[in-house]
Amino acid sequence: MAQDPWLLTPGPLTTSMTVKQAMLHDWGSRDAGFIAVNDRMRQRLVAMIGGEGTFSTVPMQGSGTFAVEAMIGTFIGPKDKLLILINGAYGKRIEKICQVAKRACATLEWAEDMPVDPNLVKLALARDPAITHVAVVHCETTSGVLNPVAEVAQVVADAGKKLLIDAMSAFGAIELDSRKVPFDAVAASSNKCIEGVPGLGFVLCRVSALQQTQGNAHALTLDLFDQWQNIEKTKQYRFTPPIHCIVAFDQALNEHEAEGGVAGRGGRYRNNCKILVDGMRRLGFETLLPDHLQAPIIVTFHMPADPNFQFQVFYDKLKDRNFVIYPGKLTVADSFRIGCIGRLGETEMKAFLGVVADVLKEMNVKSGAPARKAAE
Ligand SMILES: *Cc1c(COP(=O)(O)O)cnc(C)c1O
Repeated sequence: MAQDPWLLTPGPLTTSMTVKQAMLHDWGSRDAGFIAVNDRMRQRLVAMIGGEGTFSTVPMQGSGTFAVEAMIGTFIGPKDKLLILINGAYGKRIEKICQVAKRACATLEWAEDMPVDPNLVKLALARDPAITHVAVVHCETTSGVLNPVAEVAQVVADAGKKLLIDAMSAFGAIELDSRKVPFDAVAASSNKCIEGVPGLGFVLCRVSALQQTQGNAHALTLDLFDQWQNIEKTKQYRFTPPIHCIVAFDQALNEHEAEGGVAGRGGRYRNNCKILVDGMRRLGFETLLPDHLQAPIIVTFHMPADPNFQFQVFYDKLKDRNFVIYPGKLTVADSFRIGCIGRLGETEMKAFLGVVADVLKEMNVKSGAPARKAAE
């Protein structure tokens, strides 16, 4: 079988052969074997945040956004008000979700190349006592910036408010410990740092908070309380579960564990990120973010100034050589993105850098340097 393209994207991403092979069977949703897999998955995710005894995994069919929308609709009741911390497209998406669900919200915004600032969150909470919850994105995949979730969580807890986290692109690679960081719910999905295939979102919910959400949800399918009750009582999903995806996810969790869990997975991604950034800088490219703000998930590079550089040509030539990169999504700068996550390591990252050098030569581009410095 020909090698699939290497996906240097933020998900879906490159999965192992063994994860793909796990999908080569049919299962009934009432099959005892599948029920055991589903139970084990739910427990292993809770263990990943040290939430044994206090948290429960509520799986949600669909992509990651389905899980985020279910989290917002279930935890934010009609009388609550959500403060959304926005420094990219995924924070904006939470605002859109609130508008559609007709939930009260306020926003605090930062530039896409800046992390959110816990001090400003503290001031905003003091100013508006109607706010009951705060939402933050762990790694804003728009730019790749890492938000200071632990500091935000402390400020939110000190003000007596509740925190909801979209940790989609960080979960499984960047530590989040519920015993140290206070929050009520965190949403993520099967196809990012756990390296499963797309199809399942999940929300890890603090049970004491989830118990108070009955009747809140704005949609039947997205009701985490109902989904949780049903799975706890009957072991069944209310509606058809993405079985092949869940079985592959179980295999992906085996491989995550074998790699040393969050520390091991995060270590490989940090190494990928360092190889990528160092190598691209040698070719003249500049990163949007300074290293201390960069999460080892996806890196944003400024568009080169060389008149021979055309992004679409660059993209197509990389694709011809079996590497897929990602366009930019920024409003602050003309840019493109390269992911560090998925079943990729040193070998693939180094091969990629060699291919980039060849492609630049072929395009007659002397350097990847942008017109202006990132700092300006
Ligand atoms: C990927 C991602 C999502 C979910 O995107 P889907 O396309 O619905 O899977 C949400 N938030 C962040 C931060 C993400 O990176």
